[in-house]
Amino acid sequence: MKLIFLGPPGAGKGTLAVRASEILNVLQISTGSIFRAAVTAESPLGLKVKAIMDAGKLVDDETTIALVKERLAMDDVQKGYILDGFPRTIPQAQALAEFSAVDKVVNFDIPDANVIERLSGRRVCRKCGYNFHVIFNKTSKEGICDRCGGEVYIRDDDKPEAIKKRLEVYREQTAPLIEYYRKKGLLLDIDARPLIDEMEVIFKKAIGV
Ligand code: AMP
Repeated sequence: MKLIFLGPPGAGKGTLAVRASEILNVLQISTGSIFRAAVTAESPLGLKVKAIMDAGKLVDDETTIALVKERLAMDDVQKGYILDGFPRTIPQAQALAEFSAVDKVVNFDIPDANVIERLSGRRVCRKCGYNFHVIFNKTSKEGICDRCGGEVYIRDDDKPEAIKKRLEVYREQTAPLIEYYRKKGLLLDIDARPLIDEMEVIFKKAIGV
C-alpha cells in the first residue's frame, strides 16, 4: 500500500507512521527525518537545509523532489511506503504523480491549539527519530528513548517562533493539498485529536485493515 500522511506539524503523522508501517509492513519515509539526519551528519545537504529548517520554512521543491524521487526508486519501497511530510506543496504533489501512484492520502484533521500543545511538549530521539511527549507520551526514563536507548531532545524547530512560522507555512503552502487530493478522490480524513492508541484504531478502520 502506498500512502501519504498529510497534516500540520504536530498532528501525530510521524508517531502514527511508525505504527502504521509495522501494521502494513511497508517503510515509513519521512523527509523531515532525512533532512535532520543530513544536518547531524553535516553533509552538503545538511549544511544547505539547517537554517531553513530551524526557521520553520520549507526546503526548496527541487531539492526535496529529487531526494524523494531517488528514495522511491529503491527496491525496498516497491511494494509500498508511507510518505510522512511529503508532498508539502502543489508542485511536489504534481512531481510525485509523475513517478509514483499513491493509493490513499490520510489527512490528519486537528485544530491549531492541539498542535501547539503537542509541539511545545514534543521530545525526539536523536538516534531512531521516535517521538515522545512530556505529558501524553512520556519516556520511562527521563531523556532516554524507550525504543532504542538514544538521547531524546527538543527539535530546534519546536521552539515557539518556529512553531508559529511552521503553522503559517502549513496553511499557505500545504493545506491546499487537502482539496487537491480530495478532488482526485484519494483523501481519507481522520480525527487527529485523540492519543496515539486511539488514533491507531481510527487509522485501521479508515483504511480497512
Ligand atoms: P517534519 O519533520 O516533517 O516536521 O519536517 C521538518 C522540516 O524539514 C520542515 O519544517 C522543513 O523545513 C523540512 N521539510 C520536511 N519535509 C519537507 C518537504 N516535503 N518540503 C520542504 N521541506 C520539508
